[in-house]
Amino acid sequence: MSAVSFTGRVAVVTGAGGGLGRAHALELASRGAKVVINDLGGDISGENGGTAMADQVVEEIRAAGGEAVSNYDSVATPEGGRSIVQTALDAFGKIDILINNAGNIRNAAFTDLTPTAIDALLAVHVNGAFYVTQPAFTNMRENGYGRIVFTSSAAGLFGSIQQANYAAAKGGVFGLANVVALEGAPHGILANTILPAALSRMGADMNEDQFVGMPTTPAHAEPEMISALVAYLASDANTRSHELYSIARGRYARVFMGVTPGWHVAADEPVATPDDVAAHIDQIRDLDGYSIPGSMNEEFALVR
Ligand code: NAD
Repeated sequence: MSAVSFTGRVAVVTGAGGGLGRAHALELASRGAKVVINDLGGDISGENGGTAMADQVVEEIRAAGGEAVSNYDSVATPEGGRSIVQTALDAFGKIDILINNAGNIRNAAFTDLTPTAIDALLAVHVNGAFYVTQPAFTNMRENGYGRIVFTSSAAGLFGSIQQANYAAAKGGVFGLANVVALEGAPHGILANTILPAALSRMGADMNEDQFVGMPTTPAHAEPEMISALVAYLASDANTRSHELYSIARGRYARVFMGVTPGWHVAADEPVATPDDVAAHIDQIRDLDGYSIPGSMNEEFALVR
């Protein structure tokens, strides 16, 4: 039997009407999960919704012998988030797995980003992850079991030109995921984050300036490559939480936030001056012996 099985499990995949979300939903359903296919069916900016995208994926799953239901609400409101999770409770009685995948994009140079372009991205990526995860977490906590996968982006953690709104939103998703992982730990809820790179309509929104320095040799870019990691993280085969993984061009890798040993001013020494910082900047930046704190408290505990 496969190590990655979802028999008896109920999953919600947001933004599952196309792209990566569709591939995640098909993978989970093919391994036995009952799945809520959420998608508002809009264009790449998140406008002009409809029911067709979600329904089509539900049909695909049913045609293959699986179980799925549609939900057309936006993740970006508290009512939408509640409705999405309620769809799982009404249809299947619980929620075990949440894949926060819904996303929109509106690229522009930093100073050209309008308030609307900033707010629209924060609304879907950050608020959306909050509003769906809160009711899902409540049900998972009651059941003592949960697997949550958040979708961030290399753009958010490493930076990407003309995507300041997207990067800020994806950075927010990462911050949220870290706290959900910590608060979920006592309740059997594991939360991890992915940084995917795959061919979808989102990549088509990039322009030539944004591709400078990127390799052009052939490489895997199928959504299914991302779904393999998502399914693993959502399964009982995964026992880790609070982690971050990148999948790009066929390479699966762990990404982490580390802190250097740094330079330490002891409590009985005078307060540092800017000149002291300048004198020690190489030691502050030296990566040798870095640590990966599992929380804010663990970071502070490194410095006694
Ligand atoms: P996509 O545009 O094909 O899929 C996003 C889906 O989310 C769409 O079906 C859309 O209708 C839906 N959606 C948008 N706003 C919504 C809302 N308010 N409520 C519910 N659904 C909504 O793009 P994709 O490439 O499949 O992206 C999936 C996720 O992966 C996104 O979060 C994206 O930011 C992230 N991502 C993708 C890549 C990539 O290389 N494709 C890279 C990094 C991160």
